[in-house]
Amino acid sequence: RKLSKQLGVSLVTVVKAYQKLEQDGFITSVQGKGTFIKKTKKEVVEGKKGSSSYDWQLSVEDYLPRSQFARFHQVPEKIHLSSSMIDPGLLPNRYLEQEIHRMLSKNPRVLSKYGEIQGDKALRQAMVEYLQKMNLSTDPENILVTNGSQQGIDLIARTFVGPGDVVVMEAPTYPGAIDVFRGRGATILTVPVDSEGMRVDLLHHLCDKYKPKIIYTVPTFHNPTGAVMPTKRRREILEIAESTQSLVIEDDPCSEIYFDRKPPAAMKSLDKEGHVIYLKGLSKILAPGCRIGILAASGSIFKRLLAAKANTDLGSPLLTQKAIIPFITSKRMMDHLKKLRIALKIRRDLVLDILSQHAPEEVSWFLPKGGLNIWLTLPSWMDTNHFLVETKKEQITFLPGAACYPADQENHHLRLSFSYMNEQPLTQGVTTICHLLQSAVYL
Ligand code: PMP
Repeated sequence: RKLSKQLGVSLVTVVKAYQKLEQDGFITSVQGKGTFIKKTKKEVVEGKKGSSSYDWQLSVEDYLPRSQFARFHQVPEKIHLSSSMIDPGLLPNRYLEQEIHRMLSKNPRVLSKYGEIQGDKALRQAMVEYLQKMNLSTDPENILVTNGSQQGIDLIARTFVGPGDVVVMEAPTYPGAIDVFRGRGATILTVPVDSEGMRVDLLHHLCDKYKPKIIYTVPTFHNPTGAVMPTKRRREILEIAESTQSLVIEDDPCSEIYFDRKPPAAMKSLDKEGHVIYLKGLSKILAPGCRIGILAASGSIFKRLLAAKANTDLGSPLLTQKAIIPFITSKRMMDHLKKLRIALKIRRDLVLDILSQHAPEEVSWFLPKGGLNIWLTLPSWMDTNHFLVETKKEQITFLPGAACYPADQENHHLRLSFSYMNEQPLTQGVTTICHLLQSAVYL
């Protein structure tokens, strides 16, 4: 602002100039500290040990997985709108704690043995019955218990993706999946997302040309946009996968969290030839601390994933697998989901109300009909990595959109999660963000 006044040019021009200087490597911004002229390599090498920490800090962030960005940014903050975890107050912690006590006193041997590599049979059966309620028919023999769906993605990648193999992802997408495929040395191609999820019209051409090994999608309440893919598109993706012999990863962390009507049935339920590997994590609906999810697949694909699971950890912990069975198989689970939907819908509506009253006209957003997040688009000259510095001064975090792009990063989006904070801090956080946006857009 000072520069803009001194030079008599608009603030937009100054911000653009700073962005260009940063892109060209002349300056660097350090969160909470300001903008610095970058040291030359020589200065860094010769700099006194410990005399300046900011080069070191930048490299920490460089090496941090995208999925950890939010947590890294979060450390001293009070209002976490960056985390799409569920407010612990909305999860059945007390019940699970009692169940663990009950189980340990009745059957302490659960601690002294390995379980089945594929996962506890009773849990696999319970998950089959649970998925059936969502119109997805499968069989306990086709279920593999994983340590959350993050491990599911990793098992698939380490089994089917090697350096240079093509993986197609939505843009934007879930940052934790980008890290996994990047870690395998995959060539990641992206397909944009609209209000109905992955743009299948563009996928056709890409798959014909590059024959991907994997198409990764979050078709229901897409992370980060909240988009829901209609059945027609789900079918089309399947047809493409069949014709190019690609595998589809259908990542489904929160299709239970719908706010008006139930979303379409999983893509896996349309899959006749076994091209879809379905992932259901339980972190968003039950207990992220238990680290439990399942993967459903068939034939040789399933056998190879089972082998990968054996090589990785010989099976998920028996204690937590056993502990959640009584909850999942009782009426409590459905009652809990009903309450969770109501609580999260109230929070979503609250955020939408605040945005429509206080956000600048230049800001737009998707209307999420379920899930945990709202995806905001700011004017294209804005960089939400920089805007985060402003909100952090007020002890508020969000997820900068750039973390969600595997390539050709767009910096002018941000993800607000309404699932973690309760109404009071949520109201304070979103209102403050709107006011800061007003100053950033109009000054
Ligand atoms: N996939 C998506 C789309 C997610 O949002 C998340 C968690 N944020 C995961 C996978 C990983 O979840 P889990 O805790 O089940 O490993």
